Amino acid sequence: MRIGIGFDSHVFQAGIPLIIGGLAIEHTEGLAGHSDGDVLLHAITDALLGAVSAGDIGSFFPPNDPRWKGAASSVFLQTALEEVATAGYRIVNVDTVLILERPKIAPIAGELRERVAQLLGVKPGEVGIKAKTPEGLGLEHTAVAHCTVLLESLKAPDALAHLVASEEAGSEEELNAVVEGLVGGRHDMTALGRKKPFDTDDLT
Ligand SMILES: [Zn+2]
Repeated sequence: MRIGIGFDSHVFQAGIPLIIGGLAIEHTEGLAGHSDGDVLLHAITDALLGAVSAGDIGSFFPPNDPRWKGAASSVFLQTALEEVATAGYRIVNVDTVLILERPKIAPIAGELRERVAQLLGVKPGEVGIKAKTPEGLGLEHTAVAHCTVLLESLKAPDALAHLVASEEAGSEEELNAVVEGLVGGRHDMTALGRKKPFDTDDLT
């Protein structure tokens, strides 16, 4: 298993649409950003990339690149999901915290959860959406998102199933090979086939 953490923040700005979790939300202000400013999807994207040590959203989609101006953040999320799949993992669950003064998230929390689950290709029961107001933080015009993800290896069940099915099951060589596969080899993240190398100076 692997764990990832993500964080993002955007400032509210009048006259632009508000998009959170891939959902267009009725409000007088939207979130400013080079892309659509989807603070929640950006935090989830970073958590997924972090969980497989594949860098961060800025290393894949530099904010100064005109290609991503106004881009739907589901494109970023899709890339992170591809990195997770390439590394041989699947999502166990995703938990998030949204911190914003307005609009109130509670009335749309169910819809938001379903939309995020759909974008991630998981069940709504595997996604947590919690909203807080920024009391005492002085962040009345800012939206903040935190995210934690848990991944599990796709290879582990295969390797164990093979061991059980094998006539050689129980032999020392077979057991060592499986243990090597489970514990050793798959931690080599250089085999991820990343689109760009990780650049620590290039952070969103
Ligand atoms: Zn962002």
